[in-house]
Amino acid sequence: MSLRVPPPQSLREALKVPDRYMFGPGPSNVPPRILEAGARPVIGHMHPEIFEIMSDIKSGIQYLFQTQNKMTFAVSGTGHSAMECAIFNTVEPGDSVLTAVNGIWGERAAEMAERIVKKGFSWSVFALSKHRPALFFLAHGESSTGVLHPLDGIGQLCHKYNCLFLVDSVASMGGSPLHMDQQEIDILYTGSQKVLNAPPGTAPISFSERACRKISSRKTKPLSFFLDFNWLTNYWGCDDKPTRVYHHTGPVTAFYSLRESLAVLCEEGLEASWERHRTVAEYFHAGLENIGLKLFVKDKQVRLPTVTTIIAPHGYDWKEITSYIMRTHNLEISGGLGPSAGLVLRVGLMGCNSSRTNVDMVLSALTDALQHCHRSKV
Ligand code: PMP
Repeated sequence: MSLRVPPPQSLREALKVPDRYMFGPGPSNVPPRILEAGARPVIGHMHPEIFEIMSDIKSGIQYLFQTQNKMTFAVSGTGHSAMECAIFNTVEPGDSVLTAVNGIWGERAAEMAERIVKKGFSWSVFALSKHRPALFFLAHGESSTGVLHPLDGIGQLCHKYNCLFLVDSVASMGGSPLHMDQQEIDILYTGSQKVLNAPPGTAPISFSERACRKISSRKTKPLSFFLDFNWLTNYWGCDDKPTRVYHHTGPVTAFYSLRESLAVLCEEGLEASWERHRTVAEYFHAGLENIGLKLFVKDKQVRLPTVTTIIAPHGYDWKEITSYIMRTHNLEISGGLGPSAGLVLRVGLMGCNSSRTNVDMVLSALTDALQHCHRSKV
């Protein structure tokens, strides 16, 4: 048989990737050290050296999450895969799920849960006692609205009603204080591409003993084979079984970068990283107000230090601003997402990007955009 589809002309050209300032809500810039780690040779995903790297990753995540949980690993996939891993493994038909909606991520979690259970319920303390949900979802850092949701006391409240506490920390982890065990969080996940500064594609996750008990008491198998907790924890060597069985081919080069990104964070120290993100964000927020922009989140206490939402300046087309800044300054900032679409500009300064120099760069790009973009008189 002859080939009917010729090789595409475009693939004869060399790969072109520009260097950019990645100051949107993610992915962030990946420093050379982490990029180089990902360029090391591919070896078998079940070779002993890879198991050792996976074990280092587990310890790194335990530090990052401040947890002693044995069931700590990284899902092969982006933040969404960890979200589904958390929900699909703990929820089964007949359960109810409660989600706090303070932006798009609560909506997404509800959309995932509704694939298993009939209807999710929206958050209020009253809803815990009324609906007796099996799981409560909360985004710690809501990257769509720029809100940092307080966590203290919620885990204890959930446990009073025999409900698991699931926290999304994709946008906050490493940039804002969080103590998984002390705050009684049952399932916690994050992504690699924000504060960790690794490429997108791996998602750290951890399950408490309480969460494990709920999983082992399931009457049905989880919806997804790929995200099945028992398979994944065996592949990651968390379950103490004598043999680790092939489940999927782990993305080994992504593991190298994840390990390196955790090593960078360990070198700086969590508390130092939290403090750096806090002070840089404060400096940024003051600078924004100085140039006449307004922050979307009024209450300083609940502003996310990693992703800042700025009220879309009146009279301007937000898209013109983001494209002007990209074209003129080679710098990505983004518009809103989900409920904040059209209302805000979003700037993410995460991990190595969280510095005063970068704040100054964003402020001058915004000032320039406000001078040069079209402004309507109405
Ligand atoms: N949760 C939050 C709070 C996020 O900010 C994101 C990414 N923007 C996700 C989940 C999903 O992560 P990913 O895009 O890596 O799938």
